[in-house]
Amino acid sequence: MVIIPEKKSSKQRNEIKPTGSSPKSLPPLDDILDPIVAFAELHPGAQTLALTARRNPYVPEGVYGIIDSYCTDVDCDCRVAYLSVVSMQMGQLAQLTFGWESESFYQDWMGDFDPLDDADASWNFHGLKLMDLAPQGSLAEPLLKMVGSMLSDKETVEFFKSRYFEFRAGLHQDA
Ligand SMILES: [Zn+2]
Repeated sequence: MVIIPEKKSSKQRNEIKPTGSSPKSLPPLDDILDPIVAFAELHPGAQTLALTARRNPYVPEGVYGIIDSYCTDVDCDCRVAYLSVVSMQMGQLAQLTFGWESESFYQDWMGDFDPLDDADASWNFHGLKLMDLAPQGSLAEPLLKMVGSMLSDKETVEFFKSRYFEFRAGLHQDA
């Protein structure tokens, strides 16, 4: 597992107002789902996971950041990490969701709620997937595979799990 320290001078960081109840610069999915905010926005200086592509026929060699974001609804316990894979040169390349709980956990949690009126009933956060509602780049599929193999390491799963709970705890403090 590679960790790159968060850069204080990143563009994202500059847009952040550390105080106030509604962080700006939310992803477009905000319109559909509860506001989703990057972990690093709530916890300045937090580390970001990185993916390294080397001799991958589909992904240009280089380091890709995985920006993890979480839901800010204090009454919600969706247990999902929203992962944006980004590169310095190409910007955002893929939007993934990762749910570490069982399939039935998400089924129970979703109940009758359907974020898309006519979405198929199997919409479920379990596992790692490309986010249906998000724009995806041409590298999205191979990057999904790379993140998938990262998540075969339990340590990486635990990383996102603990970030989720840390993020959620931070929300309650602000409320
Ligand atoms: Zn939620």
